[in-house]
Amino acid sequence: MITAVLGGGQLARMLALAAAPLGLRTRCLDPSPDAVAGHVGELVVGAFDDEARLAELAAGAAVCTFEFENVPVSTTQWLTRHTTVRPHPRALGVGQDRVLEKELFRRLGIGVADFRAASSRDELREAVSAVGAPCIVKTRRLGYDGKGQVRLAPGPELTAAVDAAFAELTAGNDGGLIVERVVPFDRELSVLAVRGVDGAFATWPLVQNEHEGGILRRSRAPAPDLDPALQRAANDFARTLLVELDYVGVLAVELFEVGGRLLANEMAPRVHNSGHWTIEGSVCSQFENHVRAVHGLPLGSTEMAGGGVATMVNLIGRMPERRRTLGLPGVRLHDYGKAPRPGRKLGHATVVGTERAAVDAAAARVLG
Ligand code: AMP
Repeated sequence: MITAVLGGGQLARMLALAAAPLGLRTRCLDPSPDAVAGHVGELVVGAFDDEARLAELAAGAAVCTFEFENVPVSTTQWLTRHTTVRPHPRALGVGQDRVLEKELFRRLGIGVADFRAASSRDELREAVSAVGAPCIVKTRRLGYDGKGQVRLAPGPELTAAVDAAFAELTAGNDGGLIVERVVPFDRELSVLAVRGVDGAFATWPLVQNEHEGGILRRSRAPAPDLDPALQRAANDFARTLLVELDYVGVLAVELFEVGGRLLANEMAPRVHNSGHWTIEGSVCSQFENHVRAVHGLPLGSTEMAGGGVATMVNLIGRMPERRRTLGLPGVRLHDYGKAPRPGRKLGHATVVGTERAAVDAAAARVLG
């Protein structure tokens, strides 16, 4: 049986690696012939709007899913006429648009930072004065890893800064903007959840995420010193969203912890970087559970395994020396096989264990 995947990057590669022991093959579509999922599964090279390539992707596939949220919704809609698409294209559409996403969160009672949409310079000025500085202006669409964002500080230069932000963020982008109040968060967390075809639902323990230069650097699970009420709140957010979207598969919600409360920043309708630790750190990983879910198979346990504490570090721009890294006790290395480039996620390493300090120290040794 074949799982078709839109996108052939490291997430698709890890989906393929998780699917193999279940006897499931993976076929990915990616515009790049170098897409790394092609090292472990079948790769169709083509654009996401090339119907001939889409037909090739879907031929004989039991189900089609996606590994990143910027696949055109029209592509997934086209594919629904040829195979089953999970999660539903609607989740993709919401996940692509920061305004729709935040409106949905708010409607479902999930807390968000104060925000306003804007599509012209005057609207942006109004939105900034309604939300108040400090605030962040983001493109509604196609932003990732902190790209397409400008932070605005209060003060006499604010109006000029608003106009400059408008010019910068709308150059080559007509998808509109969102202004969000800066959340003085204590830390960033994420919750990963999975829902099956039968409505079965599970979450993994809340993860604490640390970024460097807008890119995720380290995830720790479970988030240290976590108030159990926050896990319950995160589970409720995730369950509400997944039920509302009639969602099948894994979904991640990025959260801010602020003053003992959770606010949702954004959702990713796919497997997520902050869940990579689940490969070694939980009974059934996010990748295997996503595959199980989209094929209508029973979900696996999301309980922690291997000692109950996990830390994942991303390997960005340059891979650490393989021999040295593999010699570090307890470190599990994932090299995606990508060509190095500054700022590019080339791999990750995970350490699991019983003691938070020891696990963190072992993970830190990977980075040098
Ligand atoms: P995003 O692309 O929305 O995930 O934003 C990238 C990063 O910018 C987040 O991980 C946060 O560190 C920061 N950020 C985004 N939105 C806000 C906000 N409203 N308040 C404070 N920090 C934010």
